[in-house]
Amino acid sequence: MTTIKVVVNGAAGKMGREVVKAVTQVADLTLVGACDRAAVGEDAGTIAGVGPLGIKIETGLEELLERTGAEVMVDFTEPGSVVNNVHTAIRAGVYAVVGTTGLSQADLDEIDRAASAKGVGVLVAPNFAIGACLMMRFAEEAARWFPHVEIIELHHDQKKDAPSGTALKTGQLIAKVWESQGLDQDDRHRSRSVEEWESLPGARGGRLEGIHIHSVRLPGFVAHQEVIFGLPGQTLTLRHDSTSRESFMPGVLMGIRRVKENKGVLYGLDKLLF
Ligand code: NAD
Repeated sequence: MTTIKVVVNGAAGKMGREVVKAVTQVADLTLVGACDRAAVGEDAGTIAGVGPLGIKIETGLEELLERTGAEVMVDFTEPGSVVNNVHTAIRAGVYAVVGTTGLSQADLDEIDRAASAKGVGVLVAPNFAIGACLMMRFAEEAARWFPHVEIIELHHDQKKDAPSGTALKTGQLIAKVWESQGLDQDDRHRSRSVEEWESLPGARGGRLEGIHIHSVRLPGFVAHQEVIFGLPGQTLTLRHDSTSRESFMPGVLMGIRRVKENKGVLYGLDKLLF
């Protein structure tokens, strides 16, 4: 059976370890390498809790991709590293499945240009949980009827960036629906009767196209989001909870299996789901 050769970048991290575990538990994927700047020299399987795999964690992504003949690189590193990592994969002609958040639109445009020129595909998904994709889908539907919304995202206290990529994407999708209905930010604000001021700056959260986004960081959380729509006399709350990192793995495995279907950047797991 031909299998897809996978390198996991960020293999010693919380998500990377889960990906190592998931990839080694299915027959159609083969883990050929593990990269991280931490836990160098340790066995990726031991760290992931699946027992030794004979694959040591190493640095030097470019050399690793070439030596192992990798076909897909999965990246769960950190916002400051991901752009370089993806360009390294593209240069090596390796497809990329990217879960690391923090990529700007300019980064995505540049990656799209480079990947298209090289003839490889890059799947970037701010959230690999299928339930979270459905939440975003339902939010788009609700936005057609509700011109007011606030987003609350809640994550573990080790998360570095805020707001989450999922919250940003949800806000963008809602704003797009409103735009298609000819409803702009001013229309929404005019319908509020109070002049707002914050005695504590930031109390009303960050604003994306007039949508308030609130970020909570506490131990005990994994990844959660509420999208609260309001109209006089009623609210509609959509909530998704990832209670363990296992929730992301069916989406990551789907991404690895299907990333070769496209060239350039594909943004969002929804592009594969719907
Ligand atoms: P983590 O800090 O536990 O792991 C990151 C790992 O990457 C660490 O082991 C670190 O040493 C390594 N690393 C950083 N820069 C590197 C580089 N240049 N080369 C090699 N290794 C490098 O973080 P985490 O919780 O696993 O999350 C990783 C990323 O994934 C974050 O951006 C997070 O927001 C994102 N995330 C995305 C999803 C999704 O569904 N898309 C889900 C959860 C987390």
